[in-house]
Amino acid sequence: MTTPARTPLLVVADDDPAERGLIEEELGRRYGADYRIRICATAELESILDEAEANGDDVALALATGKEGADLLARMRGRFPTARRGLLIPWLGWSRRGVGELVLRSMARGWIDLYVIRPTRRRDEVFHRTISELLQESERLRGEGPAGAIVVADGRSVRAHELRSSLAGLGIPHRTLAAAAGDAPAVTLADGQVLTDPNAAQLTRALGFPTELDSHETDLLVVGAGPAGLSAAVYGASEGLRTTVLDAGAVGGQAGSSSLIRNYLGFPRGLGGGELAQRAYQQAWLFGAQFRLTHRAVALEQRDGRHVVRTDSGSEIAARALVLALGVEYRRLDAPGLTELEGAGVYYGASMSEAQALAGESVYIVGGGNSAGQAALHLARYACKVRILVRGPGLAATMSQYLIETIDKDPNVKVLPRTEVAAAHGDGRLEQLELRAPDGIETVPAAALIVLIGANPHTEWLPEAVARDEWGYLATGTDAPGWPLERSPLPLETSLPGVFAAGDVRARSVKRVASAAGSGALAVSDVHTYLSLEPAVRWPVRR
Ligand SMILES: Cc1cc2nc3c(=O)[nH]c(=O)nc-3n(C[C@H](O)[C@H](O)[C@H](O)COP(=O)(O)OP(=O)(O)OC[C@H]3O[C@@H](n4cnc5c(N)ncnc54)[C@H](O)[C@@H]3O)c2cc1C
Repeated sequence: MTTPARTPLLVVADDDPAERGLIEEELGRRYGADYRIRICATAELESILDEAEANGDDVALALATGKEGADLLARMRGRFPTARRGLLIPWLGWSRRGVGELVLRSMARGWIDLYVIRPTRRRDEVFHRTISELLQESERLRGEGPAGAIVVADGRSVRAHELRSSLAGLGIPHRTLAAAAGDAPAVTLADGQVLTDPNAAQLTRALGFPTELDSHETDLLVVGAGPAGLSAAVYGASEGLRTTVLDAGAVGGQAGSSSLIRNYLGFPRGLGGGELAQRAYQQAWLFGAQFRLTHRAVALEQRDGRHVVRTDSGSEIAARALVLALGVEYRRLDAPGLTELEGAGVYYGASMSEAQALAGESVYIVGGGNSAGQAALHLARYACKVRILVRGPGLAATMSQYLIETIDKDPNVKVLPRTEVAAAHGDGRLEQLELRAPDGIETVPAAALIVLIGANPHTEWLPEAVARDEWGYLATGTDAPGWPLERSPLPLETSLPGVFAAGDVRARSVKRVASAAGSGALAVSDVHTYLSLEPAVRWPVRR
């Protein structure tokens, strides 16, 4: 039987014949039916890659050893953007000076995706787990993973973007197929359901997520299902509180739009924000949390010792305690043409679902923070030219050093200091940008403009009794002005007793996934303390 031409390659370069033999056996037995496996010495790796490129083959995974191997892997990045690249090291190699330094330098500069410990024996499952994860990641990047949904639409249209964002927010792997001219956009689900131009609620419901909402009572209501709300849901539900979680959209919040979260504890290779959200959602659900998605909280009042939240659909949820995990929303950029082209080339927040559609295109990113840096590096895998526009002289004051160094090394990414968007143009979708720099205005072709210039909290719907700082962030604990009771407020309690704040929406919070998740858990601990107080101490509440 001949192997189909498009079967992806799995290439390993190792100069030690004994190690090479063991790796060849291990990979051959597990993956030989699904990948073409090429094992070689380091000196042969380049010609194997040249041959693969000439044949138009996909390389799913390349492993190599030593400095020379790391250099070869670094140079592969632009040629095989969906390949995963691992530096093979011996067991305990990380503790050897030269090896450890090479791993750290290669990771920091984006030359490799991970280090892989050579197998030490037959059926080395630690080795195989690493290989499987790298192959899964490569499959996902090639857009070949299991598709829970197929968006059938003009891939660059606003609706396609909206549908992909909804699916990404729900953690559903998806692909886009071009629709026939004149056909309405549609989504085909893996079970065969076809939804014609569905709204977010219809899509969410069809995918089995809970959207039905009737007025009810609960112990703990969590508003917001980003990392802070999901964490509050996991701890609340697992610790015996009847817990309802309400979100205006899907699950994951901002984190759901992050292509790769590299600094979340316990995930050394990073973790897609959508996957993190999905895992947390399932965890909370298994503990019994009730989710009500696609419903926005619009009002809060106190009635009979309960906090009553009204939603935009008119339902009311009465809770003994409330955790506000509202996060923040992206700040908008103001220039002619941007509003009209939003979703059609102009995007707020970096959703990785757009990246593949930008293959070979020019992409501009506005913003100098870490999210802009991460977005640039992710998009540079696909786009031929990524430019980061910053108002200041550079990135040093706003971006982490490891990202600045990786960007410096990436030939596809350049920073344009003291440059801003003066206008956007395009017929139905972004085609050109006018850029204003100190030496004048330049018009450039652009397929996408990604705006990552910070965010604001949306707390304006809350009653006055919930104190906010000048930017609208919720003050908590002893920082909260206007505390109405004799007892001291709990650390995450707002100025309205029994209402707690967690995550990015809290004043002076650290804007990170880990801190949001941590504060969600802490808020639940405060909720337990609050509920254990005598009613007269908890209450009365100022109106
Ligand atoms: C592109 C990007 C990349 C990032 N990368 C990283 C990273 O690598 N590492 C890191 O640590 N952090 C990263 N962050 C920051 C991190 O995602 C946030 O700090 C974190 O998501 C905050 O969590 P949260 O739960 O407080 O709020 P959010 O994630 O903002 O979630 C808030 C939720 O509340 C819902 N909501 C708001 N108002 C209402 C309402 N009235 N009714 C119902 N629901 C409502 C929203 O729909 C949303 O789902 C990144 C952020 C972005 C945008």
